[in-house]
Amino acid sequence: LIQLAIPLNFIGFVYREIRQGLTDIEHMFDLLDVEAEVVDRPDARQLAIANGAIAFKDVHFAYDAARPILKGISFEVPAGKTVAVVGPSGAGKSTLSRLLYRFYDVQQGTITIDGQDVRGVTQKSLRAVIGMVPQDTVLFNDTIAYNIRYGRVSATEEEVVAAAEAAQIATFIQSLPEGFQAMVGERGLKLSGGEKQRVAIARTILKAPPILILDEATSALDTRTEQEIQSALDVVSRNRTTLVIAHRLSTVINADEIIVLKDGVIAERGTHGELIDRDGLYASMWSRQREATQAEEQLKRVRESD
Ligand code: ATP
Repeated sequence: LIQLAIPLNFIGFVYREIRQGLTDIEHMFDLLDVEAEVVDRPDARQLAIANGAIAFKDVHFAYDAARPILKGISFEVPAGKTVAVVGPSGAGKSTLSRLLYRFYDVQQGTITIDGQDVRGVTQKSLRAVIGMVPQDTVLFNDTIAYNIRYGRVSATEEEVVAAAEAAQIATFIQSLPEGFQAMVGERGLKLSGGEKQRVAIARTILKAPPILILDEATSALDTRTEQEIQSALDVVSRNRTTLVIAHRLSTVINADEIIVLKDGVIAERGTHGELIDRDGLYASMWSRQREATQAEEQLKRVRESD
């Protein structure tokens, strides 16, 4: 019976995830490596959203008991504000977003939205208020319009186009011979990482959730794409409670607060200006990234002039 229960559980899990808009297939398979599926409590309530304030309080978490990842993390994302999390690779940044979306449960401490513990509400009601722009968006083998409309299936054609415009992807789509009817995905047009991320942003603009989680792609983007994505994100995160898992420091400059995560604890926190003045870990990450960007651009200029 146990052997049977696991696959059934899994099918139920996959079905729910697909229905609830999780299209990041790789992410789903990552989850398969771990045994526990988060289940709703029998007395789970609907999340009652007021203005979407998030609070992490003394959060502890480990995927594997022998290796703690988060060791007492506390911070708030006030309603409508943006908090960015930065830190070395493997520090546990994406783990924070997975706990908020409740792919896993905290082992100690609490995560609340408008004062309600995420463990006490239904996953459906939780995920309905959160827009997730994942690191790597998997597109359906269907038209671009379908892929964008997935954010809100009742959206009109005009709304789909407006969302694409706000996500800075409309000009690209309109340049395709079939425009919004172009097929994408494995059996259609292959989009670049930056284009896929903008499709995900357009989807999220249509969903219009009060809370947004943006898990930036680690892959390097050229400066122009990065700027386009940045302005798309500025549109989507305006007046929304936003948690950014940032790999590019250019995304975090305007955040209301930056959390620097290292070895499972918050090493530094503050605004960009405060952290630069502090001349600590953030300041050194910033100067290293700036040097890397400058070197890359110089290399590009040399190549272009050849
Ligand atoms: P990056 O900047 O490289 O994306 P991150 O700070 O977002 O890193 P996380 O993805 O949160 O890091 O991972 C934190 C640590 O937990 C890493 O050491 C990672 O190997 C480990 N980890 C992540 N997912 C799992 C999992 N499903 N099972 C076991 N360990 C995991």
